[in-house]
Amino acid sequence: HFLSFEGIDGSGKSTQARLLADALRARGRSVTLTREPGGSPGAEEIRRLVLEGDPDRWSAETEILLFTAARRDHLEKTIRPALARGDIVITDRFADSTRIYQGITRGDLVATVDRLHDLMIGTEPDLTILVDIDPALGLSRARARAGTELRFEDMGLDTQIRMRAGFLDLAARHARFRLIDGARDADAVAADILATVLPHLG
Ligand code: C5P
Repeated sequence: HFLSFEGIDGSGKSTQARLLADALRARGRSVTLTREPGGSPGAEEIRRLVLEGDPDRWSAETEILLFTAARRDHLEKTIRPALARGDIVITDRFADSTRIYQGITRGDLVATVDRLHDLMIGTEPDLTILVDIDPALGLSRARARAGTELRFEDMGLDTQIRMRAGFLDLAARHARFRLIDGARDADAVAADILATVLPHLG
């Protein structure tokens, strides 16, 4: 099984991905918990290239190429080997993040992301947990987190609102999505996610 977590900054998806991994391990399941951008040594190097330093270093198109390259490495080196071992793979972000972050924040590049995805990745998670949050709440949560990487902080609320709408639109169009209300306390959200995921795992 291949599960992804998606959501805007401050949605709590990283916490929830970890809590789900813990809960499944406590039930005796083997879990590989991973993340994007990154998730393999090569992809983590690409993460640093993109997320550290001058935010305007790369065009949106170049960023799509870099994130797709990182995803390809993540898939080859981490995700496919873990699935082959029989692990449940949980990734904190996957291609949907590129569709939204690179695909809609700097022009309409979703079709470009999709074409490159078809060519180089060609796979989707079988379940995607979208942790949905009001963008103002997400932004205030993300800003309260000390030392965190928050690339779109300066773009502010408007960008977060467009990204949330983009995620909800993807969720409406693909059956693999499950929508989870992230505005509650972490334990309530985690219980909801576990109840959503367990029947799927069989
Ligand atoms: O998910 P996480 O908080 O680790 O993401 C780190 C940063 O990378 C976030 O600020 C997010 O906005 C950004 N990001 C991005 N493009 C992606 C995925 C994440 O700019 N495709």
